[in-house]
Amino acid sequence: MKILFYDTKQYDRDSFEKTMVNFPEITIDFLKTDISHRTVDLAKGYDAVCVFVASDVGSEIVKKLGEYGVRLILLRCAGFNNVDLEEAARQSITVMRVPGYSPEAVAEHALALAFAVNRHIHKAYIKVRENNFSLVGLTGFNFKGKTAGIIGTGKIGAEMARFCQGIGMNVIAYDMYKNPDLDFARYVELDELFRSSDLISLHCPLTKDTYHIIDLEAIEKMKDNVILVNTSRGALISSEDLIRGIRQHKFAGVGLDVYEEEDENVFENRENEILETSITARLLSFPNVIITSHQGFLTEEALESISLTTLQNATSFMSGSPISENVV
Ligand code: NAD
Repeated sequence: MKILFYDTKQYDRDSFEKTMVNFPEITIDFLKTDISHRTVDLAKGYDAVCVFVASDVGSEIVKKLGEYGVRLILLRCAGFNNVDLEEAARQSITVMRVPGYSPEAVAEHALALAFAVNRHIHKAYIKVRENNFSLVGLTGFNFKGKTAGIIGTGKIGAEMARFCQGIGMNVIAYDMYKNPDLDFARYVELDELFRSSDLISLHCPLTKDTYHIIDLEAIEKMKDNVILVNTSRGALISSEDLIRGIRQHKFAGVGLDVYEEEDENVFENRENEILETSITARLLSFPNVIITSHQGFLTEEALESISLTTLQNATSFMSGSPISENVV
C-alpha cells in the first residue's frame, strides 16, 4: 500500500519511520506541504492519503481524491470535523482516525493551562528574567475545594475530571451520555455548570450542536473570575464573545490550545510576519490569556500511539476488514 503523507513535521516523520519497520507492506512518501487544491494532484497513484488536524479536506478535495483512485483517508488525529464525510461516502472513500491515542496527554495539557493561567506562570517567567521580582499581579486562587466543570466526559474529559478530583476539586460535568467510570462527578445541566464552576474545561467534539457552545449568553451565566480552558476545538468558543467577556473582566484566566482562526498559525513559524487575523492578535494582547498552538497531543507516548494505530488502520483496510471503531 502506498500512502502519501501531507503536512508532515519532523516529529511525525521520526515517529512513523520508527514504527514502519513493523509494516513492510506499506510505503510512505512524506510531504511537508498540506493538502490543498494545488497539492491534491500529488495524490495520483497513491492508495491512501494521511492528513492531520488542520488539513482542510473539503468536498472539492475529496472529489479529486476519488477521481485519482484514492480509497482511504487516514487521519492521524482524533477529530474529523475537517473532512467532508458525505462526499467521502459518495466517492466510496473510507475515512479512518485515531480515536484515543493518549487522552492523558491532552488532559495533562489542559491542566497545565489551568495551573499556568491561575498562577500567572507565563507572566512570572518573563518578569523574573527581567530581574523583576515583584509579586504584584501574580495572585491566584487555590483549586482545592473549588468546582471544576467538565463539558464532554469521553476519553480526554474523563482524564481531566480525574485530575481535577485528584487536586481536591468538586467535579461537575455535562454530557449527553454519563460516563459510568466517573462516579465521583455530578452530572448537571449546562446552565448549572456555567453558574457553579470555577474552572470550565471543554472536551466535547465540534459538531453543529457544540459550535459556539461558549457564547456571550453562556459567558454571562459564568461566575466572575472563572478560568476557561479549551483544548478541544476552536469553534466551541465564539472568539468575538470571548474577547468581549475578557474585556468585561469576567475571567481570571483563559487557556487556549485551540481557537478560531488557528489554522493559519498551527505548527507554523510566523515570527517574522505581521499577523493579519485580528482574533489571534487581540487574544494575545490580554495578560490573562495563554495560547498554545494545538500541542495538547504532543507527547512521545501519543506520537508513538498515533503512528501505530494509523498504520494498523491502513493494514486493516487493506485486508478488507477495517478496524470498525476507527472508521469515521
Ligand atoms: P470522545 O469521543 O472520547 O469524547 C467526547 C465526549 O463528548 C463524548 O462523551 C460525547 O458524548 C461528548 N459530547 C458530544 N457532543 C456533546 C455535546 N453537545 N455536549 C456535551 N458533550 C458532548 O473524544 P476525546 O478523545 O475525549 O476527544 C475530545 C476532543 O478533544 C476531540 O473531539 C478533539 O476535538 C479534541 N482533541 C484535541 C487534541 C489537542 O491536541 N488539543 C487532541 C486530541 C483531541
